[in-house]
Amino acid sequence: MDEKLLTILHQVKERQDELIDLLETLIRFKTPAPPARNTEDAQKFVTEFLQEKGFCIDKWDVYPGDPNVVGLLKGTDPEQHKSLIINGHMDVAEVSEDEEWETDPFTPIIRDGKVIGRGAADMKGGLAGALFAIQLLHEAGIKLPGDLTFQSVIGEEVGEAGTLECCKRGYTADFAVVVDTSDLHIQGQGGVITGWITVKSKKTYHDATRRNMIHAGGKLHAASTIEKMAKIIQGLQELERHWAVMKSYPGYPPGTNTINPAVIEGGRHAAFIADECRLWITVHFYPDETYEQVSKEIEEHILAVAKGDPWLRENPPTFEWGGTSMIEDRGEIFPSLEVDSVHPAVHTLMNSHECILNEKAIVDVSPTVTDGGWFSDAGIPAAIYGPGDLQNAHAVNEQVSIEQLVSYTQVLLKFIYQWCHTQK
Ligand SMILES: [Zn+2]
Repeated sequence: MDEKLLTILHQVKERQDELIDLLETLIRFKTPAPPARNTEDAQKFVTEFLQEKGFCIDKWDVYPGDPNVVGLLKGTDPEQHKSLIINGHMDVAEVSEDEEWETDPFTPIIRDGKVIGRGAADMKGGLAGALFAIQLLHEAGIKLPGDLTFQSVIGEEVGEAGTLECCKRGYTADFAVVVDTSDLHIQGQGGVITGWITVKSKKTYHDATRRNMIHAGGKLHAASTIEKMAKIIQGLQELERHWAVMKSYPGYPPGTNTINPAVIEGGRHAAFIADECRLWITVHFYPDETYEQVSKEIEEHILAVAKGDPWLRENPPTFEWGGTSMIEDRGEIFPSLEVDSVHPAVHTLMNSHECILNEKAIVDVSPTVTDGGWFSDAGIPAAIYGPGDLQNAHAVNEQVSIEQLVSYTQVLLKFIYQWCHTQK
């Protein structure tokens, strides 16, 4: 291994107190989402941190009080060398009043070799590791030939499109690593899309007309939208079962591709027949499927169900898919991500992991979703690779192991160094 690289890899361990300090600093910024709109100070910290290390900064408000930060460290020979995006979200899961934390979730403590605080695992640990790796490369005077982009985004916990906004702004690279919670596994993910199914009557009827619409000789061709929605829910269950039987993906238990009727809203008052009913569904799909594909399958199936009903046939349900925020417009999309295990960057990352940890790298799938799918959606090869485990993400007394964080930082440092030195 390169002598210089070896020296700074040792420094990660020797200077681990600085790494822990950095993580504690990040945890102290109170950035829970919801309520969100609270990342300005944390993002300013990242901005200054990256500027000191020679990065050019692009910082813009995705929402007021929630800016994205993208730092670009131009390579010395970018035409000839591979480029990299490191991506992480600055928001953390909400802390509800009744959670019994040992201490204040935003005042980190260290105990038994662990840092405890909101975001330690999801995912300020990953951010701290990546930033510390960048700091050590900078201090050692190492100039990377390939471009390095660091994205500190907002809103991931509430399905806000911080990472999508970066992609839309044109940021791209030969590979992206999302440093979210993966317990040092190299992971892809299935996807999630939420949707609203609405059944609406063209006319509103008084409660007293019910006899006419349901009994012999009533001669009123009308219906309760709540009762018609029951039929649609049954249709969704049939499709869900069909998917469970027919679809699978290595690493997932069969039936992981669920359609959850999560929220139902309908009717206006007990004196009326329900003239509108809305169902909010959450759809989980496999890494080799797209959200466009699964939403189309659901629409086709439900419209076929509607065709079998004399009233729904004339009043077919309508669909509204996705959204850019669970807070603003009650909808979200997390595209899926397939990791290409023969991609040279994945190979380099596996190699770094094996070299530092002396164990075989695991390439598998995340049981949850991250922003990783947006890179796949934008055509950028990517993987999730971060410290911390999912038992700790969003948990009371959330924590990350210091030993794992140090190893993680070493792996990522070596990976950044090697990938950005790789010839195109
Ligand atoms: Zn996360």
